[in-house]
Amino acid sequence: MIESEYFYIHVPFCIKKCRYCDFYSKTDLSLIPDYVTALVQEIRLRSQLTVSQPKGNAATVYFGGGTPSLLGPRHLEAVLQALDNAFGLCRQAEITLEANPGTLDNIHLKSFQGMGVNRVSFGVQSFDPAQLSLLGRIHSADDAVCAVEKVRAAGIENISLDLIYGLPGQTGDHLIRELDAALALMPAHLSCYMLTLEPDTALHDMHARGKFLPMAQSDQIDLFCALAKYLKARGWDHYEVSNFARHTSLRSLHNRAYWQMVPYHGFGPAAHSYAVKFDTDGSAVYKRFWNAPDLNGYINTLKLGGLPASDSETLTLEQRQMEYVMVGLRTSMGLDIRTGQNLWQDRFLTVFQRLLEDLENKGLARRRDAGQRFVLTLEGWMRLDSIIASFVERI
Ligand code: SF4
Repeated sequence: MIESEYFYIHVPFCIKKCRYCDFYSKTDLSLIPDYVTALVQEIRLRSQLTVSQPKGNAATVYFGGGTPSLLGPRHLEAVLQALDNAFGLCRQAEITLEANPGTLDNIHLKSFQGMGVNRVSFGVQSFDPAQLSLLGRIHSADDAVCAVEKVRAAGIENISLDLIYGLPGQTGDHLIRELDAALALMPAHLSCYMLTLEPDTALHDMHARGKFLPMAQSDQIDLFCALAKYLKARGWDHYEVSNFARHTSLRSLHNRAYWQMVPYHGFGPAAHSYAVKFDTDGSAVYKRFWNAPDLNGYINTLKLGGLPASDSETLTLEQRQMEYVMVGLRTSMGLDIRTGQNLWQDRFLTVFQRLLEDLENKGLARRRDAGQRFVLTLEGWMRLDSIIASFVERI
């Protein structure tokens, strides 16, 4: 069977690091041309090593980062051309560009749209100047509004907005005002992330110095519940804990690949890939591999004709079971009983029967699709971490 292919391109540049962010990126934008040359080379080299299937099955290309909207049209075109030459892009592919409001202009957008970019995901994060300042964002709320208008004027309708909630002192009313401001822009998709304190971030340092006091987790969960109910009441499809689509057809195709544990190719420094290979005896080997988070090393190695430093792990059955549970419980598709039975050699229902019944009886989960799927309710998602822990301790 010919499988769809999914591509992730990591663009490791930002104008300035946001205080909460631990994604790999650098602020020296002068390296962008060398990075693009190296990226094109990596795509070419890696495609030669990949067992090829017929070209033209790319379901998605996702430019993430970092700030992909810092790439100029020439750069983006070079990367898309390299992907097309190596793997073949089909016309219907979902091509997403993550963008920081304020880094766009009309000329770029029209060119991007002409090259096939048909989805833009904006890191808006907040419409409140005080929150934007605390997060260390480089743009204002007005910049976000203008940026969305520009993208739409360039003919790209599939627009996603990222919001962050759960900042210190945020109330339910404040969050609703944030959601209203986002909804007024008529996005197709919303990603709403609870603020988390990541190691090696400025916010983490501020916390260590007593300059930042995170919101209590129970209060953050109350906000999650309020936002989920608010969007549901307005017809939004809550299809993953942090993700909402205006309509089921507007769910992110690319993220679905991650959530369904489908193989994907990642290019660029720090990019991860997932592949299923077959041993000579026909057994499947599940591999995750990733490039080192080292922009200079990446550029220099590819300049010399080599592949960038990388690391890999072969997933054990236990790891795959854990990932299946952790990822599946986050989505509205939930756990598919047949897939579970396959992964547990027909023991899934035996191992988890009491836990599944208990969660159902407490209203934290329900069966769907004639009992074939096991899906957490909103109340279940509010206790997601402890429910996942209950599954994991039985693996
Ligand atoms: S949140 Fe986005 S713009 Fe901010 S530092 Fe991280 S990748 Fe860069």
